[in-house]
Amino acid sequence: MKPLFIVLSAPSGAGKTTLCDLLLQNYPELCYSVSCTTREPRVNEEDGVDYHFLPVESFKRMIAEGAFLEHALVHDNYYGTLKQPVYDVLREGQCMLLDIDVEGAGQIRDTVRGLPAGDPLREGFIDIFISPPSIADLKDRLEGRATDSSEVIAKRLRNAEKEMARAGEYMFRVTNDDLDIAFRRLCDIINTKAELI
Ligand code: 5GP
Repeated sequence: MKPLFIVLSAPSGAGKTTLCDLLLQNYPELCYSVSCTTREPRVNEEDGVDYHFLPVESFKRMIAEGAFLEHALVHDNYYGTLKQPVYDVLREGQCMLLDIDVEGAGQIRDTVRGLPAGDPLREGFIDIFISPPSIADLKDRLEGRATDSSEVIAKRLRNAEKEMARAGEYMFRVTNDDLDIAFRRLCDIINTKAELI
């Protein structure tokens, strides 16, 4: 497959992590971009695998050094994508998958637009927004996974509405009301792009 640069966004609880895992299992040439964050690790999360967990001072220093392709404050914590690994993976001819918020995706879109033709980030770029079937469904999913406090869930739901209002900025939108159908739709989008570049 051609080196694709795939950005996925979704409100937390919309099933994005499951869909990302399915993509990674089905496309061996796809690498997952491990983001940096200043939030605390959850149970079962591993440093360097799920995220690079950093103190705020280190994160801010890296912003100043220009290490990030994009960065954003999400639910009061910093999150960012390191520039170097993305370029390294694409230049090796592999594909990179980013799971980032709408703000970060907007920054990447702006960056990609300003890149010269032939730049690997520009050639392989697609962005996809995954929507939950409804806010009520999202609330059920967040409460069901029981990893966050009720305040955190309330904040995530408020944020979800804002994020869903920006779904129209993405090249593609997929509603995850049925995991198999959503996954097949994602594969179609990716396979079509891979044929076009
Ligand atoms: P969580 O804390 O639940 O893992 O992620 C919270 C939100 O942060 C999700 O919407 C996720 O997509 C987003 N996120 C994760 N990594 C990054 C990143 O590197 N940059 C940006 N802008 N958002 C990120």
